[in-house]
Amino acid sequence: MPSNSHNSMDFALGCISLPPQCSATPNPSFLLIDDDIRTLESLHSLLEGRGFNMTLATSGAEAQTHLLEKPYDIVLLDLNLGDMHGLDIMDFINEHQIDVTTIVLSGETNIESAIGALQRGAYGYLRKPYPSEQLLNKIENALEKRALEERNRQIAVRLEYSEKIYRNLVDNSPDIIYTLNRDGCFTFVNERAQQVLGYTQDELLGKHYSIIVHEDDQPRAQYVFNERRTSNRASRNVELRLRGKHLDDEELTFDQSMMTISFNSMGMYTSEDERGRHEYHGTYVVARDVTERKRAEELITYQAYHDILTDLPNRILFNEQLHLSIIQARRTQIKLAVMLINLHRFKIVNDTLGHSKGDELLRQVAKRLKSCLCEGGLLARHGGDEFAIIVPCIKNRQEAATQAGEILKCMKKPFLLDGQEAFISARIGIAVYPSDGDDATELVRLADIAVTQMKLEGKDGYLFYDLSMQNASQEKAEKEKSLRLAVENNELEMYYQPQVEFTTRKIIGAEALMRWNHPVRGLLSAGLFLPFAEENGLMPLLSEWMLEAVCKDMSTMIKAGCPPIRVAINISPNALDHSDLFEHIQESLENYAIPPKQFEVEITENICIRNPQYAIEQLNKLSQLGISVAIDDFGTGYSSLAYLHRFPINTIKIDQMFVREIQSVDGHFPVALAIVSIARGLGLNLIAEGVETDAQACYLKKSGCESMQGYHFHKPMPSQSLIDLLKKQAA
Ligand code: C2E
Ligand code: CA
Ligand code: CA
Repeated sequence: MPSNSHNSMDFALGCISLPPQCSATPNPSFLLIDDDIRTLESLHSLLEGRGFNMTLATSGAEAQTHLLEKPYDIVLLDLNLGDMHGLDIMDFINEHQIDVTTIVLSGETNIESAIGALQRGAYGYLRKPYPSEQLLNKIENALEKRALEERNRQIAVRLEYSEKIYRNLVDNSPDIIYTLNRDGCFTFVNERAQQVLGYTQDELLGKHYSIIVHEDDQPRAQYVFNERRTSNRASRNVELRLRGKHLDDEELTFDQSMMTISFNSMGMYTSEDERGRHEYHGTYVVARDVTERKRAEELITYQAYHDILTDLPNRILFNEQLHLSIIQARRTQIKLAVMLINLHRFKIVNDTLGHSKGDELLRQVAKRLKSCLCEGGLLARHGGDEFAIIVPCIKNRQEAATQAGEILKCMKKPFLLDGQEAFISARIGIAVYPSDGDDATELVRLADIAVTQMKLEGKDGYLFYDLSMQNASQEKAEKEKSLRLAVENNELEMYYQPQVEFTTRKIIGAEALMRWNHPVRGLLSAGLFLPFAEENGLMPLLSEWMLEAVCKDMSTMIKAGCPPIRVAINISPNALDHSDLFEHIQESLENYAIPPKQFEVEITENICIRNPQYAIEQLNKLSQLGISVAIDDFGTGYSSLAYLHRFPINTIKIDQMFVREIQSVDGHFPVALAIVSIARGLGLNLIAEGVETDAQACYLKKSGCESMQGYHFHKPMPSQSLIDLLKKQAA
């Protein structure tokens, strides 16, 4: 039988030829052999009319020719033939393995010929003359015997056929099939078992099943492999881990060499004995390799509880573990600490260097934090740039503080991203069981309050949760709410800070800056609430309001007959990621009939680097519309000139930081000078912001920067004040 793999079962079964269709011969055929023609004729007439097909032969040679030509059922043979002896014919029949029943009809009286005939397999020996009855009886018996033999032969062929089919089905089954005797030793294994387990059939037959079962599963295996029950009560779909042979040789890891097999087994019993009893004689097992499915399930479970990026436990697993750790701590009466670690400045690196570098940074951070873990500690990724640690078994707060100190220290070292050094720092909020809280959710919440407190204070380091912080976090929630309400209640207002040409003091443009007329705190400048809005996802709401407000103000300005100036708006870093920014601006300008050339957008360098291709597309569209683009806070970001070159930029704004350095007209302030020459080199407009003193203004003018913005000239003002100023200027 061909040893096919299980999946070529069709082919394998196709190889088994069906048994020949054997039907009992309806008309038995006779060969009558006698050299005496009269005897032949009388034999013929004796048998005629009984439905026999008869052929006559008058010599040995003629008889041999007939025997080779076609099959006969019965030969009636005379011993004395003219050309040969009848026994020669019998030898001929035997030599040629001709299947025929021979009845000898002989006139010879010597016993030798009778013995010779019987030795050669004659069915009957009748001495002439014999009564016809006797011959007919003999013939009838011979035919009956032949029919019986034929039936047996057919049964044997069918048996062989069905045995072949079943064996083929069993061997080519996708399942492992085997039987065990009552001692648990293999008595049969199919070929599939060999493929899956790596043992040959000979290696398994007679061996105890325990050699293939993983040791941890031996106790459970006992029930499956010694199963005596049958039908519904037998073992079904029991999963056990087995160890294959070839897998060991290949030195695979423990995990890989393990197979998960699903078992169905039942007892085998002898058929009923005379007292109606069945005897158990072994177990029949059908098993399926479900390793792949099991691994897939494990992977799914793993992914549900882990962060794919860092391979750390995720928030769900962290909370479950924390829950268990608390139970343990309660039982053993020890303390534990929960730390929430927020990465300060991660967002800047992510925005500046792009998300893939950001991801890499998170992986490196995870690795470093892991190395800081104390024994039994658990590190998890808790959110975007937030990690969480369980510090089990601490004696006092100082131990947690020490550990936090170590974490801060190791986060201070620069991270290498493609050869570029990135610096971030951490803020750690700590809550301690049982003094701060006694359940998992509460401890995490309190640690979060401590982190938020640090963010509010703008500090790095660690902070233990403290009751007084509750107020701060409530404050935050209230702040968020009141900022949302500010939009609804019209508490926001756009202010405009004029930009002037130094020599003529003429106003050539204005920067739109947001203000909040806070009902209690008075007028708040953008720096006091926009960073909060940015951190808490309120920027889209505010930007939308701002665009509308600026366009409305500009429209009033135009209607009031002011000389046309360019008004710049600030675009928050995330806004360029929103695909509808361009459409938004275009629509607003159209609605208020504002010429695009009177409109400018200020972007920071960092926007350009995060998703340069997309930023370029967006800015190009704005630029094509006639809107100009300015780079704000130039020199403070991470951008390289190579990048800037690809952007449709019209203006560079020298950041206040570099203007503030200018202390006298005669000094030397290289950064400002460098920026001036970059703008010249790239053929861009230049404007200095934050100009507060005459000396700064004069130095900038002397260095080649004509346009300026700052308190020295004008503070940001309401739109009506700007209109008044512009009108005065025109007069
Ligand atoms: P910025 O774009 O660098 O704006 C300049 C900031 O410097 C403004 O602060 C302005 O009031 C202030 N400033 C102007 N002249 C002087 C000066 O001579 N000395 C000093 N010390 N400061 C001066 P403000 O209004 O608080 O805005 C802070 C930042 O908030 C802005 O920085 C800008 O990035 C952002 N911002 C303001 N308004 C908006 C807005 O409507 N949308 C967006 N997305 N961002 C805005
Ligand atoms: Ca600006
Ligand atoms: Ca600026």
